[in-house]
Amino acid sequence: MSRDPRYQRLLNDKRWKLLRAEVFRRANGLCELCKAEGFITPGVDVHHIRSVEQAKTVQEMERLAYNPANCQLLCVACHIKVHQDMRTHTKEKVKENKERARRRFLEANDPNYVHPYGEKADDYLRNLEEQAKMEGIIYPDDPPT
Ligand SMILES: [Zn+2]
Repeated sequence: MSRDPRYQRLLNDKRWKLLRAEVFRRANGLCELCKAEGFITPGVDVHHIRSVEQAKTVQEMERLAYNPANCQLLCVACHIKVHQDMRTHTKEKVKENKERARRRFLEANDPNYVHPYGEKADDYLRNLEEQAKMEGIIYPDDPPT
């Protein structure tokens, strides 16, 4: 799954084989997320809760890789889902979404709200249309007046 050679080396280490076996034993061979939801699914992958590759030094990578508390036994479906969620829930993304929601809330609730483009809104819209034309987006013709 990973192309970082340092990470690969950690996973080829005997310490990882032992820890992996221990995590399987600890979870009784069952996917821990499914079990928390009340489903009995065989565990397949040992997942690192905190990503090992985000570590900056090899020592830090080892600490994350070989820490039983950082390991979780998952089925394939849960493992895929966890990684998808990690991609879409980065700190920046969450901050971005919060900020956007806050702006929309203010706009919707402030009667004195002035659009950032203010009186230039017409220019702004014209630019958007120009851009759309250049990108081949076709707007329907204006209704006849
Ligand atoms: Zn699962």
